[in-house]
Amino acid sequence: MTRAQAKYLGLKHYFTGKPCKHGHVAKRKTVNGTCFACERVLVEKWKTKNYPRHLELMRGWSRRNPEKRRIHVQRTRANNPDWRQKLNAAVAEWARRNKDRRCASEQKRRARKQRASGAGYSVQDIARLLILQNGKCVYCSVSFSESVRHTVDHVTPLSKGGAHDLQNIVLACGPCNSRKGARSVEAVFRRTTR
Ligand SMILES: [Zn+2]
Ligand SMILES: [Zn+2]
Repeated sequence: MTRAQAKYLGLKHYFTGKPCKHGHVAKRKTVNGTCFACERVLVEKWKTKNYPRHLELMRGWSRRNPEKRRIHVQRTRANNPDWRQKLNAAVAEWARRNKDRRCASEQKRRARKQRASGAGYSVQDIARLLILQNGKCVYCSVSFSESVRHTVDHVTPLSKGGAHDLQNIVLACGPCNSRKGARSVEAVFRRTTR
């Protein structure tokens, strides 16, 4: 069958039985004559190159089609027994490619965190702190909301040897947190009470 015939018959795709210019013997799209196998290769290439954007699009689609997503995930995992390795490889590949893009401050922050002692904290710890602080900024008592997000503040800054754990963190609004910066809480209070 030719593309013209497919068009005439109103078919969405057609099959010529002949290889495309890249050697695929596959169905083609009537609308532009693109070989399905070629298209898949292009899509995969794009996904690897634009991994975060791809994830974003997928998340949006998943939210809109939870049932379709469930079936799709089941099917792809059944067809790709090594899907987990493939996914990890894709993530690693993107990270390798975008290494230089990661900003220096982020790396500095991470390094400091790694050097800092302390066990870290969990999402539950933060929830508990929110309750303890009545959902208010520890410094200015503004109530946290959609527009006033809470941020995690190290009471003794990591740069001054503070631990990265629950004993050393409070929740503060963004402005208070950045105003405090790398000063200790004592220094901030000394300033405000004077
Ligand atoms: Zn092809
Ligand atoms: Zn505040």
